[in-house]
Amino acid sequence: MCTLTGLKAVVTGATRGIGKAIAEKLSAQGVELVIAARNKEALDTLVLQLPTKAHAIVCDLSNPQDIDHLAQEAEKLLGQVDILVNNAGITADNLLMRMKDDEWDRVINTNLTSVFKLTRALLRGMMRKKWGRIINISSIVGVTGNAGQANYVASKAGLIGFSKSLALEVASRSITVNCVAPGFIETDMTTGLTDEQKEKILGQIPQGTMGTPEDIAYAVLYLASKEASYVTGQVLHVNGGMV
Ligand code: NAP
Repeated sequence: MCTLTGLKAVVTGATRGIGKAIAEKLSAQGVELVIAARNKEALDTLVLQLPTKAHAIVCDLSNPQDIDHLAQEAEKLLGQVDILVNNAGITADNLLMRMKDDEWDRVINTNLTSVFKLTRALLRGMMRKKWGRIINISSIVGVTGNAGQANYVASKAGLIGFSKSLALEVASRSITVNCVAPGFIETDMTTGLTDEQKEKILGQIPQGTMGTPEDIAYAVLYLASKEASYVTGQVLHVNGGMV
C-alpha cells in the first residue's frame, strides 16, 4: 500500500532503536539509504544487514562541519535525496534550576539545530526535483511538556513549529514536512528508567504497554510514501492512546 521502491533516503540516528527500525523498514520497501550516526561499527554492521543498497556516513550531528559533510556525501552517493528522516536525538535531563548550560546546549544542538542545518542543506535538491518528504521525530512530551526535561521538550516542541512552518514554505513544490511524535518506546533511551518510573508511565498508557521501534517506523513509512502526498504540516501521534 505504501509506494516507496526506487526512492532514496537519509536516516539519522540509525544505529539503534527507532532509527534502526526506520532504516530496516524503508530498506525492505526498496529504498536506497544513507544512514548516519556516530558509531561507525554499528553503521557498517547495519549496512551489511539491510536488503537494499545502503551507505554509512559517520556523523556527529552536534558538529556543523559533520552535517555539511553528511549532506554533500549523501547527495554524491544517492544522486538525489527524496526522503529525509531526522531521527537522532538525545536527552540530558535535569530540573531547570539545576540545568547546566552544557546540558541545554547539547540537547538543543543535537535535536533541533542539526535538523535545521541538515534540512536546509538537502532542501535545494528536493526543490529542484519538485518532490520530497521530510519527517522529523518529535515526541509526545513536545506537546504535553515534562518536568525535568525542559531542554528536551523545547527541542521537540521546536521541531513541531519548525515542521509546520517549513511545510507552508515548500507545499507548492510537492514537498511534505511532518512530525511523528512517539509516546514511550522501548529503546536504549528508555531502558534507563527505574521500575517505579516504568510502572508510573504504563499507568498513563491506555493500551497498557510501551511501544516498539517498529510502531514508529510504520508511521514514518506512511508519511514517506507517495500515497501521503496530501498530508503536510501534521504531527502523527503514536502512543498507545496517551494523547
Ligand atoms: P536511542 O536508542 O538512544 O538512539 C539514538 C540514535 O541517535 C542512535 O542511533 C545514536 O547513534 C544517534 N545519535 C545520538 N546522538 C547523535 C549525534 N550527536 N550525532 C549523530 N547521531 C546521534 O534513541 P531512540 O529511543 O531510538 O530515539 C530516536 C528518536 O525518537 C529521538 O529523536 C528521540 O528523542 C525520539 N523519541 C524517543 C522516544 C522513546 O520513548 N524512545 C519517545 C519519543 C521520542 P550513535 O550513538 O551511534 O551516534
